[in-house]
Formats: sequence, structure tokens, C-alpha cells
Amino acid sequence: MSYDFKSCTLCPRNCGVDRYKEAGVCGNKSVIRAAKAQLHMWEEPCISGRNGSGAIFFSGCSLKCCYCQNYKISHENFGEEISVSRLGDIFLELQDMGADNIDLVSPTHFVPLITSALDAVKHRLDIPVIYNCGGYEKRDTLKMLEGYIDIYMPDLKYKSSELSGKYSYAPDYFKYASEAILEMHRQQPELVWNGPLLKKGLIIRHLVLPKCRHDSMDILSWLKENIPADSFKLSLMSQFTPVYRCSVYPELNRRITTLEYNSVVDMALEMGFDGYTQSRKSADSSYTPEFDLTGIRQHRTKHA
Ligand code: SF4
Repeated sequence: MSYDFKSCTLCPRNCGVDRYKEAGVCGNKSVIRAAKAQLHMWEEPCISGRNGSGAIFFSGCSLKCCYCQNYKISHENFGEEISVSRLGDIFLELQDMGADNIDLVSPTHFVPLITSALDAVKHRLDIPVIYNCGGYEKRDTLKMLEGYIDIYMPDLKYKSSELSGKYSYAPDYFKYASEAILEMHRQQPELVWNGPLLKKGLIIRHLVLPKCRHDSMDILSWLKENIPADSFKLSLMSQFTPVYRCSVYPELNRRITTLEYNSVVDMALEMGFDGYTQSRKSADSSYTPEFDLTGIRQHRTKHA
């Protein structure tokens, strides 16, 4: 897909910068940058499957969450530049390794390049492609992905603009994320299964933050009013760990309590949502991959 990076407006930051010459808020010019490609076992069971998802961790991010566990790649932009053709090869290599899907992690700022890579290899890929993002998306950019993405897996982080402004420098987060989720649901309106693995559909993730359970509940209420509960999976995460810049906000400098998490889970159950909860043992930084360029450089399998 051709996209003119001369005045980039791919995400809600609408920087308008010439990415052939400079980077915008996402930290990246018009060349793909990625930090790791590997089989990844720590997604939801319907995604990680038996062998793991084929995760590609892209560098950079347009959200600036102070608690980001992947800050080394998202904020510090660790990674290596790769061509569109190399990205296509990575997709095929992950499939050859037995990946149950292709899991595009933080892909928003590279969407037109990712669709070009998929155009080149899609006829040889027989596993689903997942768009795994922070939810801060533009509807028009998501429309570019129609027909390419089988499973959307966005976060829905905040309802409150005060919280999203303070913790992610994005006071307009919910305005964009709510529109984005409705567009994702329009494209993938129902869950389609291949045995225990999800083949098509929408999984909405929400991380419960310390002192923010009422905002979590506002999100559940919005979902209940706007998307049929049986048409998507809800993943309520408890893995918040006070890392990176959390020390700036004393209220974030702890893990969430059992009461905070269970009160959100109880409300989700009462509302009839189906999906996934997390053991509170998951609040452990060992669940964060080590970013070391594994799988990014040319290696292993040669494709004809
Ligand atoms: S993708 Fe990057 S450069 Fe483009 S609008 Fe978003 S933050 Fe700005």
C-alpha cells in the first residue's frame, strides 16, 4: 500500500511531519524498526495456543504511558531498521517455526508498510494476523487494514481524559479509542474459532491501574452499552507493575490490590462479559520479553 509519509497523520497525534526526513511523536521515520520476533507464550490462551503467537515487537509508540513495561522499545526506540521485504520474510519464518498466528505488537505507526509486507506474502500465510495495539488509533488508518487483519486486540485503557492525559499524555484517548474499537468490531463482528484458537474476532484488553477502578467500571459500562457482550472477548489484566516513570506519581507506585481487581472482575461477570482474567502473580516484570533483536536480522530459513 502506498502512503505518503511526507505529512504523517496516521495516528491521533496528527504530527504532519515529513517522516522521510524526521520522526514524529512515535519516534520513527518512514522505515520499519523492530526489536524482536519470537514465539510468545504470554498472550491470552486463545492466542498463545500450543506453540505461541508469532510476535513481532515494533519500536516506537505514539502513546507515552508512564507505566509502560516495554519502555525500552516504545519510548527509547530500541530496535533495528528493516525493509518491507525483510518483514515479509519474518512473517514466513515465524510461521515455519510453528507460530499459531502473526502477532503485530504496537504496529500503528507502520501500518502502510505492514500491509505492503502482507501483500507480498499473504498468499503463503495460513495463520491469522493479529493487530495488537494500545487503542489510540484513527478510524481512517484502521480502514487501511480491512481485509488484512483477522483478530484485533486493542487496549481500552481509560475513559477519563484526566487520567489519560496524566498517565499517557493523551487527553483525547477515549474519544479515539472508542471510535477505533467500534471500527474494529465493524470489521470483525463475531468470534470465529479453530478449536481452542481464535481465528477471527476482537479481544479488548483492559489493565486495572491503582486507584482507578471506578474508571475501569466506566469502561465496562461503555462496552455494555455499545458492543454485544457475546461478540468479543474481554481480557481484564492485573499485571500492573510500577516501572519506568511511575515514581513521578505516588499513587501509581504500588501494585493493585485484590479488592481493586476483584471489584472490576465481579462487575464484568455481572454484566455478562466473557473472556480472561489474570492471576495476580502475573504482576511480575519477568513476563516482559528481553529485547535483543532476536529474529530481526536475516537468518535461518531461506524462502524461495
Ligand atoms: S504515526 Fe508518528 S508521525 Fe505519524 S501522526 Fe502518529 S506519532 Fe505522528
